[in-house]
Amino acid sequence: MSVDIMKDIMNLSKNRGFVFQNSEIYGGLANTWDYGPLGSELKNNIKKAWWKFFIQDREDMVGLDAAILMNPRVWEASGHVSNFNDPLVDCKECKERFRADHLVEKTLNIPTANLTLKELNDLIQEKDDIVCPSCGKRNFTPARTFNLMFKTHQGVIETDKNIIYMRPETAQGIFVNFKNVLNSSRKKVPFGIGQIGKAFRNEITPGNFIFRTREFEQMEIEFFVEPGTELEWHEKWMEASKIFFTKILGIKEENLQFREHDPKELAHYANKTVDIEYKFPFGWGELEGIASRTNFDLSRHSEFSNEQLNYHDSKTGNTYIPYVIEPSFGADRTFLTVLIDAYTVETLPDGKERTVLKFAKNIAPVQIAVFPLKKNEPSIVNQSREIIKMLQKKFTVAYDDTAAIGKLYRRQDEIGTPYCITVDFDTVEKDQKVTVRNRDTMEQERIAIKDLPAYFEKEFEVEW
Ligand SMILES: [Zn+2]
Repeated sequence: MSVDIMKDIMNLSKNRGFVFQNSEIYGGLANTWDYGPLGSELKNNIKKAWWKFFIQDREDMVGLDAAILMNPRVWEASGHVSNFNDPLVDCKECKERFRADHLVEKTLNIPTANLTLKELNDLIQEKDDIVCPSCGKRNFTPARTFNLMFKTHQGVIETDKNIIYMRPETAQGIFVNFKNVLNSSRKKVPFGIGQIGKAFRNEITPGNFIFRTREFEQMEIEFFVEPGTELEWHEKWMEASKIFFTKILGIKEENLQFREHDPKELAHYANKTVDIEYKFPFGWGELEGIASRTNFDLSRHSEFSNEQLNYHDSKTGNTYIPYVIEPSFGADRTFLTVLIDAYTVETLPDGKERTVLKFAKNIAPVQIAVFPLKKNEPSIVNQSREIIKMLQKKFTVAYDDTAAIGKLYRRQDEIGTPYCITVDFDTVEKDQKVTVRNRDTMEQERIAIKDLPAYFEKEFEVEW
């Protein structure tokens, strides 16, 4: 798969209403995107599938929906105020701005995660082969740190005293509610809290369509365990994540890999992190990080707040601060992955090409499309409407009569609709049967209208 595929997918996204450039009529806003009618359906279906699989279907999980704005002390405790920085340099010639660590890493091919700002600066000054990727010159400002949190002010007066932040991760909303959830839900460790929500990072170099954006949506879990059992649980969360990606979302296993963080890459408090990566057209990229974060966050909040965020095990009599496994998913990245993985261009026996999105059936934005063979024939139209009404209770169903059947099939293929139903004269005059056409095999079969709900229930069943 080449980078051209990205262009094709971006075009299809715009033309079919999956993803639009944000504020496009004003020239857009850099790296900001909006989900269109089909995109919002697909994204919702991904989030619903995640919520069901990881939260509703498990006895050891509960959900949460915390606010984006939080007491600024949260971000002092979490380390984001002092440590959530990127080193930034400007090219004095062309005014482009770069991540100093990326510049060094790319040119010298060395890991930079643990280099200080001074070390980065020294390298940029000393090494002549570090040049501006845009203009090729060597005239950089000194590297300086840049905090990635978006700031705003709460209340009418804009002073340093009322600065608040747009959350850079949803995780902290979970940690600060640990006691509330524990007391209200009566859960016992091991148990976890999951949340889906927006987060904001003022990235210096976002890009690759919706892969890295400044406003993004996370699907995060904090799973609390007894110290000493965390690596065992880390393993279980890797397995569960793999099932989610391959069985629930239908992503091809050969396009996924687990990549364990090298000790140099690990945050100082983490004792294991594994990323699940997808083979994007632009290279391997992180889809989900599964981090074993020890008791870092709960300990810090215990230190900074008025609450001891510990857990009393009534069986053993021990009181401890739980360790945490954090599976953290990007909703937008998962969306992009589902789109890319489903994108297929096939050559048909007659030599013609067809573009088809082979989404897992359960997450397709439209699941069943119904076509009347003749749009001016009341009996056919009425019968089509009745079928829609019957199937709508369980499935997402669309009606289309704006073209000939062959063209309607192609259109539904391009948006990934698994099944099309055609209602014709035989349906209403003879047999009460319809033609059901399968997106992937393109095979057609006649099925009695009364059997349709049972037929589709079986076809849309998810097995794992
Ligand atoms: Zn330059």
